[in-house]
Amino acid sequence: MKSLTNHELISVASGAAAAADKTLLILGASGDLVGRLLLPGLGKLLANDSERPLSLVGSDTADWDDNRWRQRVADSFASVGALDGQASATARDARYLRADVTLQEDLRRILAACRGQVIIFFALPPSVTLQACRALAGFGLPKDTQLMLEKPFGTDAAGAEQLNELLLGLVPEERIHRVDHFLGMSAVLNIIGLRFANRVFEPLMNAEHVERVDIVFDENLALECRAGYYDSTGALVDMVQSHLLQVLALLTMEAPPTINAREIRERKAQVLRATRLWNDDVPAHSRRARYSAGSIDGRPLPGYVDEPGIDPCRGTETLAEVMLAVDTWRWAGVPFRLRSGKAVATNRKEAVITFKQPARLPGGLIGYELANQLRIGFGPDELSFDININGPGEPFTVETARLRADLGPGDLPPYGEVLRGVLDGDPTLSVRGDTAEQCWRIVEPVLRAWRAGDVPLLEYPAGSEGPADSLM
Ligand code: NDP
Repeated sequence: MKSLTNHELISVASGAAAAADKTLLILGASGDLVGRLLLPGLGKLLANDSERPLSLVGSDTADWDDNRWRQRVADSFASVGALDGQASATARDARYLRADVTLQEDLRRILAACRGQVIIFFALPPSVTLQACRALAGFGLPKDTQLMLEKPFGTDAAGAEQLNELLLGLVPEERIHRVDHFLGMSAVLNIIGLRFANRVFEPLMNAEHVERVDIVFDENLALECRAGYYDSTGALVDMVQSHLLQVLALLTMEAPPTINAREIRERKAQVLRATRLWNDDVPAHSRRARYSAGSIDGRPLPGYVDEPGIDPCRGTETLAEVMLAVDTWRWAGVPFRLRSGKAVATNRKEAVITFKQPARLPGGLIGYELANQLRIGFGPDELSFDININGPGEPFTVETARLRADLGPGDLPPYGEVLRGVLDGDPTLSVRGDTAEQCWRIVEPVLRAWRAGDVPLLEYPAGSEGPADSLM
C-alpha cells in the first residue's frame, strides 16, 4: 500500500465538510479487525455519502500519534477507493489517544475528546471489553451514547446474560449493537426479499415441502495469523454460534409485517428460542475435526497443531458440524445442518434448501434423480434453483436445469452496512440481547460434550473436503 504524506493526507480532503455531530470512538484501534474490515467498511459508507459528517477517534495501548492513526485510516479508505465525500474529511481530522481502556481515568479522557453523540466500538479482546464496560459503569456516559460490540458476545449463556445486564445499566437495548457482520451481507439480507416478496417460494417453506436445509461456510483459508484468537474459540463458536445461526433465523422466521428492528428481531428471537440440537443427542448429531498437514492450490500447509501460537492440548476444532431442529409448527421434523470448516478444498458458502420429491411421478417419466434445490450463495453472491425438466434429449427423460441469478456484492461491504444502521440509530441489523443468549444456549450442550471428550476429534488433511461422511 502506498503511504500518503501528511500533505497528501490533507490535500485528499476535498471541499468543506459539515461540522461532525457524531463521533465514532474505536477502542482497539491498532488491531486486526479495525484495519482489515471496519475502516474499509466505514470508508465506503462515508465516500458514498457526503451528508454524514463524522469524527473519528481511535484509542489503543499502542504508542501511536494522530499522524500514524490518520495514515492507517487513509490507507484503509484508499484500499477501497474511498477518498471522496465525507471519507477524506474524516480521515484528515481523525484523532488518536493512547489509553488503557480498562482504566476509568483513561476512558474519561478519551470520551472528553469526542464531539456530539458518541458511538463506542469495542474492537477489543472479549475479556478487555468486559473490563472496559465495568469501568464505564462507574460514571455516566454522554447522552445518547451507542455501544457496538463484536463477537464473541460473552463466552457462554451465563456470561452473555451478565454482559447484557452490565450494558443495560449503561444504555437502553436500542442503543446496544451486537455486531454480526453476516447481517450486513447483501446475500444474507436478500433472504428477506426472496422469502417474502415471492409468492412461489414462501408457501413451500415449511415441513410439508422441505426435506432438509444445509447452511455451510467452508473456506480454503487457514489461520491467517489469527492463532491467538482462533485457538481459544474454534469453529463452533467462531462461525456456528454466531453467523450461521443468524442465517438460520432469517430462513426460518415468520413474515414480519414491516421491516423494522422490533418486528425482525422479535421474529428471529422466536425461532431461535425453538431451536435445539436434533434429538438433544450430541454424539449422534455433532461432529468436530481439525486439519492435518496438506496443501491448498499447490501451497503446502502445516497441520493446525504445528501452526505458530497453537496449543495442541486445547483440542480446538477447525471444522464443526451440528444438526439442529427448529421446533415450530412450520419446521418440526426438518433437519438443519450447520457446518463450517477451515482449510477445506472447496470454498462453499451457501444455504441450500432441498425440497421433498413430488408426491408422485407420472408412470413413463424416467430418470428422476434430484429433488429441487434452492441455493443462496454468500460468496459469490448468487441464487440458483434446480428444477427438473424433460428434454431436450429423450422427451420423457427427466434432466435437471439450473436457474441462476447474480445477486451482486451490494453497494457496501458488510461492515459498511452494519455501520450505516448504527450511525442512523437503527438496530435492525444488530443482534438483540436475548438472541445472543439463545445462540449460546443452542450450542452449549455441544461445547460441554466436546470438552468432556464425548465426541471424537477427527482429522482431515488441509485441502481435502473435510472428514469422510456427513451428519446427513
Ligand atoms: P486484535 O488483538 O488484533 O486487536 C485488539 C486491540 O485491542 C489490540 O491492538 C490490543 O492492543 C488492544 N487492547 C488490548 N487491551 C487493551 C486495553 N486494555 N486498552 C486499550 N487497547 C487494548 O484483535 P482483533 O482486531 O482481531 O479482534 C477484536 C475483536 O473483534 C475481538 O472481540 C474479536 O473476537 C472480534 N472479531 C475479530 C475479527 C477479525 O477478523 N479480526 C472478526 C470478527 C470479530 P495490544 O496488542 O497491545 O494488546
